[in-house]
Amino acid sequence: MNKEMKPQVTPGSTIGIFGDGQLGRMLAMAASSLGYKTHSFGPQHDSPASQVTTVHTIAAYDDSEALNLFAQHVDVVTIEFENLPVESLERLAQVVPVMPGPKVLTICQDRIQEKSFLEDLAIPVAPWCSVHNSESAIAAFAALGKRTAILKSARLGYDGKSQTTLHPEDDAGAAYLALGQVPAVLEERIDFACEISVIVVRGQEGQMVCYPPGKNQHKNGILDVCLVPAEISADLAAKAEDLAKKIAESLSLVGLLCVEMFVTKKGQLLVNELAPRPHNSGHWTLDGCVTSQFEQTIRAVCGLPLGAVACFGKAKMQNLIGDDILSWRKILDDANAKLHLYGKSEAKPGRKMGHVTWITPK
Ligand code: ADP
Ligand code: MG
Repeated sequence: MNKEMKPQVTPGSTIGIFGDGQLGRMLAMAASSLGYKTHSFGPQHDSPASQVTTVHTIAAYDDSEALNLFAQHVDVVTIEFENLPVESLERLAQVVPVMPGPKVLTICQDRIQEKSFLEDLAIPVAPWCSVHNSESAIAAFAALGKRTAILKSARLGYDGKSQTTLHPEDDAGAAYLALGQVPAVLEERIDFACEISVIVVRGQEGQMVCYPPGKNQHKNGILDVCLVPAEISADLAAKAEDLAKKIAESLSLVGLLCVEMFVTKKGQLLVNELAPRPHNSGHWTLDGCVTSQFEQTIRAVCGLPLGAVACFGKAKMQNLIGDDILSWRKILDDANAKLHLYGKSEAKPGRKMGHVTWITPK
C-alpha cells in the first residue's frame, strides 16, 4: 500500500457494530451490500441487528470478557447509539479502531457536556442551566425568568423520555425530585418556527459531506415525520450545514453526526442536541439519495471515499410507532411507499417498529 494512504478496512473484513437496534440493522445491511461481514454486540436475543449481522454477541455492554473477544474478532467498531459505557469503548479502542471514539461519546451522551461544548464553540443553544439538586432546580427556573422550561436528565434520555415541562406556576424543586434526582439540565422551551436536522459525515482525511436539512415533526417527544428539503431559505440551510460541519470538525469526528436544531421565529438557529451515529431523521436517505446515511457511515469508518449525497426528489419519512405497524399491509397497497420494518416482535407503545418513505421525483 502507498505509505501516504491511511489504512483501509477493505470489503471482506468484519465491521463491529456496538449496539443491536434498528440503526445497527440498517448499518449491517449497508455494510453487507459493500461486501463486508458484520458482528453486532448487544444484550438482546433476536434483536433487530442480530437478525441480519453475520455474527451477534449477546452480552451486557459492560461485559469485559465479551468485549475483549468482540474486539479481537472485528477490524473496526462503530456505534449505533450513544448511551453506551465510555469505559467499554475505551476497552475496545485498545485493540481495534473505534469510530466515533470514546471522546465524542463522552460529550454527546451528557447534555451538560454537550451544551458546554457547543457554547465553547460560540454555537447558540436554548438558554439553559445545569441542575444537581432541588435548590439548583429552583434557582435555575428563577434564572430562566420562570418562563415555560423543560427539565431533562443529563444522561440516558431518548425519544422525549426523562423530560418534564415546567410551567411558570410549577415547583421546579418537586419536578427535580420526580425526575429521579439525577444530574439534569433546565432549558427554556423554545416557541420555534420549526425543527430541522443536518446530517454531516466526516471521513478519515477530514473530508465532509452534508445531506440537505430535513424538517422534523415530533409527536409526544418522538420523531413522527421528516420532510426533505426542509422549507427554509437557502441561506439558512447553508448556515445550518456550516454549523454541523464546524461541530463535526471540532469533535475530530470520523463517521456520521446528526445535529438537531430549532429554527426560531426570528430565523435564528439553536442547536438542540447531537447524535454521533445514523439518525432517524436520515432514514429517507435509504430511498432518496445516491448514498444512504448508513452506507456513508460504513464508508467513513472504513476509510473509503464518501459517496454522493445527491437526492432523487422530495422525501417524506413517516415513522411507524407502536401499533402503527398494524397498517403494514395497507401501506403496501400504495405502490410508491417504501416500507422498512425492523423485525421487532412486540409493538409496545412509543416503540419504533419501522418507517415508510415516499420520494416525489424532482
Ligand atoms: P431526545 O434525546 O429525547 O430526542 P430532545 O432534547 O431532542 O431529546 O427532545 C425531544 C423533543 O422535545 C425535541 O425534538 C423537541 O420537539 C422537544 N424539545 C426539546 N427541548 C425543547 C426546547 N428547549 N424547546 C422546545 N421544544 C423542545
Ligand atoms: Mg432529540
